[in-house]
Amino acid sequence: MQDANCIFCRIVRGEIPSRKVYEDDEVLAFHDIHPLAPVHFLIIPKSHVPSMMELGERDRDVFGKIMVLAPKIAKEQGAQDGFRLIVNTGRVGRQEVDHVHLHIIGGGEPLGAMLPRPRP
Ligand code: AMP
Ligand code: ZN
Repeated sequence: MQDANCIFCRIVRGEIPSRKVYEDDEVLAFHDIHPLAPVHFLIIPKSHVPSMMELGERDRDVFGKIMVLAPKIAKEQGAQDGFRLIVNTGRVGRQEVDHVHLHIIGGGEPLGAMLPRPRP
């Protein structure tokens, strides 16, 4: 399943260029265009799923594969000392691109706090 106007589906189809770090028949990983750390890439299923909210049983295998690929590619990209995996989801998660994607961020000094703590 592909979405004609989805930016990540367009990357999958090669209509928009990307700096790929991994590709197979089900999965694509590419550098984030606005990196937040020395290593910042995205992993997506090639099939269009809008967000984690829509994941179902049919996605179990490909997401299992993605979770195993994440640390492997992270190490290859230079994040040997750890990384953060973020999946922004929906309005509350401030998801901007509506094709489910995992951010893998690391590679430098320890990252900031996961979320700023509210002031007491
Ligand atoms: P979010 O949906 O908030 O989890 O974030 C979407 C991410 O996609 C942002 O970090 C953007 O920098 C990134 N992004 C948007 N367009 C592109 C693109 N054409 N190539 C690579 N990364 C992109
Ligand atoms: Zn898509």
